[in-house]
Amino acid sequence: MLPIHPLPPCPSCGGPDAEPVAPDSGVLACRGCGRFWAAVDPTNRPELPEAAADPAAFAAGLVRRYRLTRDDLVVEVGSGGGERLRAVKGLGPRALGVEPELRVMAKAFHAGVDTIGTRFCAGIGEYVARRYGPARVLVVRGLRAVGCEPADLVAAAAGCLVPGGVLVAEVLVGGVARLVELHPVAPARIAA
Ligand SMILES: [Zn+2]
Repeated sequence: MLPIHPLPPCPSCGGPDAEPVAPDSGVLACRGCGRFWAAVDPTNRPELPEAAADPAAFAAGLVRRYRLTRDDLVVEVGSGGGERLRAVKGLGPRALGVEPELRVMAKAFHAGVDTIGTRFCAGIGEYVARRYGPARVLVVRGLRAVGCEPADLVAAAAGCLVPGGVLVAEVLVGGVARLVELHPVAPARIAA
């Protein structure tokens, strides 16, 4: 279990309330702004790649890191206007967004990115796996588009993923957004 008290404030909004996302991963979810963050020293985790802000760079990094092909499905929770998924699609893999804000979702349609207008939870994960086939990579960028408890997110994602699939969370580590793999079985590993 995590050392619980005292938690430093959220590096994004300064809020005091956070909950662990995956046991032993050190990743916390801010109850205020929804960002994921971790209090680990990034110099101790050189293997964590930075999350590129540019959609094309983000997509290229994802495709390269997981050797994604046209047979693979990438799901993004909180996919917004579909900018990153559009870039992923352009590189070959299939892409599906999960985005609860309907006006933003319409932008994704115009960008040609298939998107489900809802928050992600176990039921949605199972629906996606049935309807679109299980995903190889599920990207989540915070709690904004998550409809289950933070502690249940990893299990919900597992129902959506192929065996060996990964849940990739964008996590603020020392002020830098980094990509952290969250795994359902202990000990949770950070990155590959
Ligand atoms: Zn916050």
